[in-house]
Amino acid sequence: MPLLLCDLDDTLVDREEAFRRWGEHFARQHRLHLPAVMAWLVERDAHGYTSRRELVASIAERFGVWPDQARALAQFRHDLAMAVPEISREVRRTLIFLRRSGWKIAIVTNGTEPQQMLKLRVAGLEPLVDACVVSEAIGYSKPNPAIFRFAAAACECQMTGGWMIGDNPEADILGAAEVGLNTIWVKRGRTWPVRGVRPTLEVASVEEGLVSLLDQGFP
Ligand SMILES: [Mg+2]
Repeated sequence: MPLLLCDLDDTLVDREEAFRRWGEHFARQHRLHLPAVMAWLVERDAHGYTSRRELVASIAERFGVWPDQARALAQFRHDLAMAVPEISREVRRTLIFLRRSGWKIAIVTNGTEPQQMLKLRVAGLEPLVDACVVSEAIGYSKPNPAIFRFAAAACECQMTGGWMIGDNPEADILGAAEVGLNTIWVKRGRTWPVRGVRPTLEVASVEEGLVSLLDQGFP
């Protein structure tokens, strides 16, 4: 059976939009000037790569909010997941079509289990995939080969001929290439940054990436 592994944040779900929605709510709640606050938040967030603990601490310090930071961190994770937009109609349609054609589909994502599973539900992805592997739950993060192997095993699939789609060059693409998967990089306006290794396909959007798999046929 053909296997497709998908990154979650900023691949299947629009995490940037979720963060923007959360930031708008935060600014309103604390009566802050939106454009300036949003620019600061987006810069501190660094596309989700700043540790969440660190981000919460710097928001607390900058705006004089959240005296209980452990509680604020849990609340922030929950609220951000709740702000995730639904997946696009084309993503939904293509995932359904791929599964009807015999593909097994798993999400492979770095993060905390409650937050990532909540994002999956809020985005409407839960009924569309065979498995969701979250790094916190299994103790390995992308690009560790173990997480890709775990996802393939969860789908009862071989890695040979399988595909991984994601937006992060190192975690998604190099990690998946390391275990022999074909790769689709969602470039979103960027240029491939790593010399010597290239993704199998480069696409502008996740929709384009998923649709391109329809032409790949069974391995
Ligand atoms: Mg991502």
